[in-house]
Formats: sequence, C-alpha cells, structure tokens
Amino acid sequence: MSRVAVLGCGLFGACIALKLRERGYDVVVFERLPEPICGASFNSMGRLHLGFHYPRDNQTARQCIAGFSAFRDAFPEAIVEGFPNAYFIASENSKTTGERFLAFADDLGLSYRRLDPAAFVPRVVGVELGVETDEVVYDAAAIRKTVIQRMDRLGVDLRLGVDIVAAEHGSRQIVLVDAQGRRESFDATVNAAYANISRLARSLEPAGRPASVRVHRHPDRPGCASARRDHRHGRPLREHAAVRCG
Ligand SMILES: Cc1cc2nc3c(=O)[nH]c(=O)nc-3n(C[C@H](O)[C@H](O)[C@H](O)COP(=O)(O)OP(=O)(O)OC[C@H]3O[C@@H](n4cnc5c(N)ncnc54)[C@H](O)[C@@H]3O)c2cc1C
Repeated sequence: MSRVAVLGCGLFGACIALKLRERGYDVVVFERLPEPICGASFNSMGRLHLGFHYPRDNQTARQCIAGFSAFRDAFPEAIVEGFPNAYFIASENSKTTGERFLAFADDLGLSYRRLDPAAFVPRVVGVELGVETDEVVYDAAAIRKTVIQRMDRLGVDLRLGVDIVAAEHGSRQIVLVDAQGRRESFDATVNAAYANISRLARSLEPAGRPASVRVHRHPDRPGCASARRDHRHGRPLREHAAVRCG
C-alpha cells in the first residue's frame, strides 16, 4: 500500500486525506496547529458560495454551485441557514454593473431578492444595486468534529502539532522533516498548507512553482491521482488531488 503524507489539516487536506484513505492508501496527516480545521478554514467568513461572488467568471460561478452541493452532502451537520447575506454593486469604479450582475445571476438561475440599499442596515453608500441571497455559512467547529470522527473511523493517522519544515528526495521516497528534526519517508505527499503552500513547495518540488493543492509523487512509485498535463507550462506529471469529500 502506498504511504501518502498530507501536509495541513484544513478543509482541503482533511477531505483529500479521507478520500485517499477510502481508496486504500495509508495516510498520515501533518498539522502544525494543535487541532484540525483551525487555519483559514476556521478563520474565513465561512460563506458557502453559490456563484454571486464571481459575476465576471461564469465557469467559476458554476463550479461554486456544483461545489456547494458536494459540500452540503459531505457536511450536512455543518450547514448554518438563515444567515443574512447581501451583495452590493458599487455605483462607481465597479468592474460590473447592476444590470450585468442581474443578467449573470438570471443566466445561472440563481435565486435572489432585490434590496433597497437606502433601507439596509448596516448603512451602505455608493451602491447602485443590492440583492439578498440564500447563501449559507458553515460551522467550522462542526466540521472539525466530523473530520476527527471520520479520520478515527477510517484509520487516518492524524498528527497534530507537527510542523513540517523540509522535504528531501530520496532514491525511491520523499523524506519529510519536522521542526524537531524527525524524519519520515513517504511514497507521495499532498501539499495542502494554504498560506504556507509556497514555502513547502520549494522543497517538495525544487524546480516547481507554487500551486493550490498538489500531489507530489515519487517518479518510481504508483500515483494516487491520475496525471494531468500542465497545459500552461506544457509539462506532464502535475497531479491534482480531487477535493470532493464524501
Ligand atoms: C479572510 C478570509 C476570508 C475567507 N472567506 C471565505 C469564505 O467566506 N468562503 C470561502 O469559500 N472561502 C473563503 N476564504 C478562503 C478559504 O478560507 C480557503 O480557500 C480555505 O479555507 C482553504 O482551506 P485549506 O485547507 O487550503 O487551508 P487551511 O484551512 O488554512 O489549512 C491549511 C493547514 O495547513 C497547516 N500547515 C501550514 N503549514 C504547515 C506545515 N509546514 N506543517 C504542518 N501543517 C501546516 C495550517 O496550520 C492549516 O491548518 C477566505 C479566506 C480568507 C483569508
């Protein structure tokens, strides 16, 4: 069985680790904080996007809709409804207009209610359009609880309070080094460290470039995700992990 290390236990790292474990990989997750889901996944606004945030990018908006359904199915206990959520289009210096925004929302079939900005609390100024949406937020603490339970049940080895500081490429494996100087070998690593992703990427992938979530596989070992060509750079063997979590 291939041993895979996942660096970071935010939403991405956790979902990837669970999915890899379900597929039979021996998975170790390293998280430098004392608990999982404590980084950006905890400190974000927690809004589960339905697409409104991306009125100039239809494809991203559609991905949000699909992603929302997948997220709701994966973490139904973490969905917090009834959270007021409004979008406003500035009347000046905006890259879209109220008319274009509404056309975009209608085209995607998004449901919204128009607001009277003058009556909105808290007070908003300099806007030409306001809409209230049905977007919801997630409860990060509920997700943390679920992640811990699922990892425990599936046998994911979650190591908390372990800061990975470097990676070395051995002849057949990748050796991870933590802040205490401990070393451990893996067949593949997934860099899901978000804010810290570039620093880790430098040693995980010496000749590479920063990425969002990336699987690094030793060239002699079977992979854990299908290889896709990196079209922008024309190079093969960039493996992107699936982040849907079931
Ligand atoms: C201010 C703000 C608001 C946001 N609001 C929203 C929003 O409303 N809706 C939305 O969808 N997105 C939002 N985002 C984006 C969203 O938070 C991120 O896309 C998402 O949380 C990233 O998840 P992650 O698992 O990649 O990162 P994280 O949750 O940050 O997880 C990465 C983990 O890696 C760990 N780590 C880092 N380096 C190491 C290391 N060397 N060794 C071990 N562990 C390490 C960190 O401690 C952390 O726990 C927001 C982002 C910010 C900054």
